[in-house]
Amino acid sequence: VELFDVEKVRADFPILHQQVNGQPLVYLDNAATTQKPNAVIDAISNYYREDNSNVHRGAHALADRATVKFEAAREKVAQFINAASPQQVIWTRGTTESINLVAASWGRLSLQPGDRILVSAMEHHSNIVPWQLVAQATGAVVEPIPVDGNGNINMIAFDTMLNARVKMVAVGHVSNAMGTINPVERIIALAHAVGARVLVDGAQAVSHWPVNMQALNCDFYVFSAHKLFGPTGLGVLYGKRDLLEAMPPYQGGGEMIESVSFSGTTYNQLPYKFEAGTPDIAGAIGMGAAIDYLNSIDRKAAAAHEQALLAYAEEKARATPGIQLVGTATHKASVMSFLIEGAHPADVGVLLDKQGVAVRTGNHCAQPIMDQFGIPGTVRASFSFYNTFAEVDRLFAAIEKAKTFLL
Ligand code: PMP
Repeated sequence: VELFDVEKVRADFPILHQQVNGQPLVYLDNAATTQKPNAVIDAISNYYREDNSNVHRGAHALADRATVKFEAAREKVAQFINAASPQQVIWTRGTTESINLVAASWGRLSLQPGDRILVSAMEHHSNIVPWQLVAQATGAVVEPIPVDGNGNINMIAFDTMLNARVKMVAVGHVSNAMGTINPVERIIALAHAVGARVLVDGAQAVSHWPVNMQALNCDFYVFSAHKLFGPTGLGVLYGKRDLLEAMPPYQGGGEMIESVSFSGTTYNQLPYKFEAGTPDIAGAIGMGAAIDYLNSIDRKAAAAHEQALLAYAEEKARATPGIQLVGTATHKASVMSFLIEGAHPADVGVLLDKQGVAVRTGNHCAQPIMDQFGIPGTVRASFSFYNTFAEVDRLFAAIEKAKTFLL
């Protein structure tokens, strides 16, 4: 039974209705970036057509309008993730910058030589390297939490790793490489029990289901607008208020100050303390429009549709000789990573593209887990609610054709 009206939402995404290499586009690279509905494209272009101005410093009508819309977008994000206050929603350039901000600001404030930072072995590079940088600067160490062959965090191993020297646990809510949904609630509770802080990388989670900061009780949560049907170049850092208040600024400049003098500068209040310089005003307004759009569709039905697409695709993969699924966790978001035995993922990707099917190939910025599995990478098909069962069929027909070229 199809409860979700896919054709209705597809009509909202103009980019989907095009031919690629002579075939109707099948866009299955949603984990890399999602497409944008008209509402987002229009909000951004209307902002530049009608309201463009700098924010927070205007003594004129356009500046007031831009500021009101920019701050309204922040409030939409705060409501969307159920943050206690919009002051705990900080605009960044993306997930990557959000994690770098926490690693640099919280890390330099809080880490001592010998302190431990735990990250899962399946993390995206952006949730590994910033921690390595701050570890080098402070004498802390970064340790991987073991991941098993199905792509699940080994929770028993994690529990044994925890002690009072663990100051930060940084984990993905959903793995971009395999789709594993990590048990973040349990991870947060265990980490908090030894006094550690927890950063959850929500880049791959927020597009699939609602997240709730006050229920989750994580210390930091980060994501990118472009993976949530919004524009590129913008992201969010959510943090607990007492931590954000205590943290030093990440970058200096305009907007983040209260008063500047050569005898001493004082900093602005949250969230502006962390927002040096002119922000991505149009991007924030686009993000707000994306949230309005998501609030206008039936997200429960959308999530059920995505899960049905994943189940259908994985069933087909299991029935196809020579396909090996990578990442077979019980709880997965709609990401299917796989290999075709005897073929390099990059070659498969090229042959699928020739047939109009867009997937991602490679290590998905998660080289450690690929190394652990002894593979160079995978082919990754990642589904969004605007994908159809017919597109899954197109994927498998294209795989069959690719196999005749490759094997
Ligand atoms: N973490 C995860 C789990 C991701 O999937 C990505 C994007 N591939 C990132 C972090 C980095 O996001 P961005 O490039 O938007 O900063």
